[in-house]
Amino acid sequence: MTTSQPSDQAQSHLFGVYNRAPLEVERGEGVRLHARDGRVFVDLVQGIATNGLGHCHPKLIKAVKAQAEKVWHVSNIYRIPEQEELANRLCADSFADKVFFTNSGTEAIECALKLARKFHADKGQPERIDVITFEGAFHGRSYAAVNAGGNDAYLTGFGPKLPGYVHLSLDDPEAIKAAAAAPTAAAILVEPVQGEGGARALSETELQFLRNLCDQNGLLLMFDEIQCGVGRTGKLWAYQWTGVQPDVLTTAKALGGGFPIGACLATEAASAGMIPGTHGSTFGGNPLAMAVGLAAYGELSKSEALDHVNEVSGFLRQQLQGLKAAFPDIIEDIRGKGLLVGIKVIPNNREVMTLARDNGLLIAGGSDNCVRLLPPLNLSIDEAREALGLLEKTFIAAREAAKKEPA
Ligand SMILES: *Cc1c(COP(=O)(O)O)cnc(C)c1O
Repeated sequence: MTTSQPSDQAQSHLFGVYNRAPLEVERGEGVRLHARDGRVFVDLVQGIATNGLGHCHPKLIKAVKAQAEKVWHVSNIYRIPEQEELANRLCADSFADKVFFTNSGTEAIECALKLARKFHADKGQPERIDVITFEGAFHGRSYAAVNAGGNDAYLTGFGPKLPGYVHLSLDDPEAIKAAAAAPTAAAILVEPVQGEGGARALSETELQFLRNLCDQNGLLLMFDEIQCGVGRTGKLWAYQWTGVQPDVLTTAKALGGGFPIGACLATEAASAGMIPGTHGSTFGGNPLAMAVGLAAYGELSKSEALDHVNEVSGFLRQQLQGLKAAFPDIIEDIRGKGLLVGIKVIPNNREVMTLARDNGLLIAGGSDNCVRLLPPLNLSIDEAREALGLLEKTFIAAREAAKKEPA
């Protein structure tokens, strides 16, 4: 056993599964994150699109304190009124009839994957096990979820790939058609706006194409809105920008406003097989989580909150187009939807993130050499302006750094 400073990663007793930035967190307030050494950052990561109301929102503090004095946890052997209440609200505001609460996104995916197979097994077609997923997807880190995501970097070294996952390119409609028509096909799982994969926003046409294939072949259409849901795109659910409805939807991240909560939403028909004994969770939907979830969802689902996301994201995106014109050597593309903003950069994205941090701005990474801006959904226009100023300083620094490197 050794003792060490928390910043000394080589000496740390934590699994080395993260490349942590040299920043020791002290406290947060709204869009700001304070480090132990006194530095203050504008935080456009927010726990990866999770703190929808920013750090330490007064209403969430109030909810957590009040519930902490009542009851925290009882597992799911008793009725939990707050669970019923949050499920009622989620169903009233979506296509869904039924909800299963989890502690994370990957567990919501796990529930959806089991639901899909059970749905077909109950119809006398247990051979229907294949879930069709797409390049650039991210569905979480459980064993099933990494198989669904299909990213080789997350699968290598963990033994054989699980059967029942078909991984295709969204740009290959013929392959998708063929896979959907296979007698073993069960469901299509897709993020309406990809998160980690580079912030690709699917068009209504693309989603409708998948819906039609599901209808023609008896498959379930499952939307992963763990990152893009709960107001992030300026609608409560990203699919609501289109006329396309799923049979199943997973959500998490902003749902708990920073408290670990996930949920799998489904229609009555899709969830019919999930009867007693088929699934469960000790912690999922516990009273403490539900109290915070109700408070966070109550704020984020207000129409004024969604209008605000659209106003701020409109401003941010317009200004980012200006930066793209001014920095054609740094910015290749602006992507995503609402306040899920992807910027495909030309220098290495990790270097851009480091330069941003040096300038007091925290931004997230993403595949396809993107950086992502995932601000709190209550970001003010003034805060957006401040962040844009820091981003401009970052791009100037990136330009300087590129000049110094030999061509
Ligand atoms: C973050 C994320 C997940 C996994 O959620 P965890 O809470 O980390 O398990 C799954 N799907 C998408 C789209 C995500 O962004």
